[in-house]
Amino acid sequence: MALVVRCAQHGLPRRTRHTEYVFGAEPSGGPNPTIHCGKKGCKNPGLVFMDIINAMEYRSGRRTFKLPFHPAKQVTLKNHGIFLSECSPG
Ligand SMILES: [Zn+2]
Repeated sequence: MALVVRCAQHGLPRRTRHTEYVFGAEPSGGPNPTIHCGKKGCKNPGLVFMDIINAMEYRSGRRTFKLPFHPAKQVTLKNHGIFLSECSPG
């Protein structure tokens, strides 16, 4: 599964060869300072972005996900996550 946290400043993570982040959702209780941007040295609270597999789980009702690099840590997401393709025309 693929999940990443990025703040507004750093924005949507780039698509990689293996993963395309297609969906974004806000951590509940957000902006939540314990869920911060994954960019090195950045401590801004962030949005959670995920790939299509996690997005489908979210769509089927899942709201709690493990954080990358912090397997013991979980994030609970708010409702109303959106597919990023809905943000821009085309
Ligand atoms: Zn950041």
